[in-house]
Amino acid sequence: MSQENHMTDKINSAQENLIQVIIANTSSAIKISNILLEHSEADDKILKADEIICGLVYRLMIPMQDQEIKDSMSEAESIMYDSSDDDDDDDDDDKEIIDDLDDFKGKKKVRTNNCNCDICQEVRVCLLNFNDYVPKDELGDKFKSSIIETCQKYNKII
Ligand SMILES: [Zn+2]
Repeated sequence: MSQENHMTDKINSAQENLIQVIIANTSSAIKISNILLEHSEADDKILKADEIICGLVYRLMIPMQDQEIKDSMSEAESIMYDSSDDDDDDDDDDKEIIDDLDDFKGKKKVRTNNCNCDICQEVRVCLLNFNDYVPKDELGDKFKSSIIETCQKYNKII
């Protein structure tokens, strides 16, 4: 009995750890998306599927530096433990992603900006190599397939 409880504890903390890694990864990807947006010529400054996908692709293919991991993990931890509304995480699906209506007519190539800073250039290189990219671990596999799902949802191709 106590053995079982111990196992459950272990599983729970492994899951918590995994969730924390996913949040850290995602929040870091969104930071990249915001940089892409800031450096673009668009005047609306609203995150669209393009920037979101580019941010996720970049974060999948360019590993975080140690300091970035620490920062993102502690940020993720504060999101996990400060959140008062655990119950309704179902209804925030698409709120953040707004896209042009004409994107629904057919598949469109994911767009990025023309900025030549290190990050924006690297994003373009990542997009070119995304389809051939082989993730290094199971979590990477999951991230890659979720990027592909996101593209399908928004009629985008990389
Ligand atoms: Zn830039």
